Amino acid sequence: RIRQRERLYRVNEEAAELYHRYLLNAEAARGAREYLRQRDVPETIIRTYRLGYAPDPEVAGWNFITDTLRRKDLPVVAIEQAGLAVRSDRGTWYDRFRDRVLFPIYDMTGRVVAFGGRILGDGKPKYMNSPESQIFDKSRILFGLYQHREAIRRQRQAIVVEGNFDLLLLAVHSIDNVVAPLGTALTRAHVRTLRGYCDEAVLLFDGDRAGLKAAMRSIPFFLAEQVDARVALLPEGDDPDTLVRRKGADAVLELVKAAKPLDEFVFEALVREHGLTLEGKNRIIGELRQVIAGSSDEGQRSLMVAHFSEKLGISPGQLLSGIQPGKAAPE
Ligand code: ATP
Ligand code: MN
Ligand code: MN
Ligand code: MN
Repeated sequence: RIRQRERLYRVNEEAAELYHRYLLNAEAARGAREYLRQRDVPETIIRTYRLGYAPDPEVAGWNFITDTLRRKDLPVVAIEQAGLAVRSDRGTWYDRFRDRVLFPIYDMTGRVVAFGGRILGDGKPKYMNSPESQIFDKSRILFGLYQHREAIRRQRQAIVVEGNFDLLLLAVHSIDNVVAPLGTALTRAHVRTLRGYCDEAVLLFDGDRAGLKAAMRSIPFFLAEQVDARVALLPEGDDPDTLVRRKGADAVLELVKAAKPLDEFVFEALVREHGLTLEGKNRIIGELRQVIAGSSDEGQRSLMVAHFSEKLGISPGQLLSGIQPGKAAPE
């Protein structure tokens, strides 16, 4: 088992280095370098985050990483377990990541446990991550936490963004207390991890319905882990990447400073969406009940009930009726 894990770490480490050097040096990575240049990602950032490029099969074949790692005496089963090689129906292997910019994902000891990959341009799927493995549990790992742990500790605050490029572009503008979950909603395990580094999280989610939903679902986790959370609303259609490019770091820092406590933010967003007519209130109650039921802690549930019923101008009983006793909060 331990040997197996060590092999997975070695596969990912060797791959990260190969992909990184390929991005920096290969003639065939010209398009990838140009893509990053267009997105205002400078070489210093490419080096700091050890970004890589998985070549286009038309240039480098379908077995670029698989064959190179096998030549380094890494067993193909380990390469497959790490998710870098995919086994075909014919029993041969080919590279999972092809013609993508790669973001190595580190654990807290600085070992590469997975990759995220973005296609150059418009194809689908836009992002692809390594599958989970013995060393990679995506509900626990946050992109950027390893690189940013000192900044987060120093500021006692973590800014949570949705995307990898959001994190990189904020770093370009010297905002480096930032993490990003890997294409999943924030989990309780993420919040628990953050608690080891800061007192407060500021959610800087995309200003769309998905962003609001994600903020809402995370309320019980922050309560349970006793981490303060605030939310900043981004202008419609912006994400931190586009905002910092258009308006600079100060605009982002202003938003962070003005961020509202999570519960207030969610409540106001629900009121904006449903209104305070009788019907609107009923919809809001329905959404809040789900949030409350997501908490496993009796005390927290009554806190939320008291808080939200007061805001809605209804009795706790009216908000509470129909709420089942909470199950354990999902991890
Ligand atoms: P970009 O700026 O590169 O176009 P984005 O980061 O703004 O992308 P979003 O669509 O806002 O992309 O998604 C936010 C994050 O969710 C991404 O950075 C990625 O980590 C994850 N993600 C998006 N699409 C997928 C997908 N198809 N599979 C897995 N993860 C995804
Ligand atoms: Mn979005
Ligand atoms: Mn986005
Ligand atoms: Mn984006």
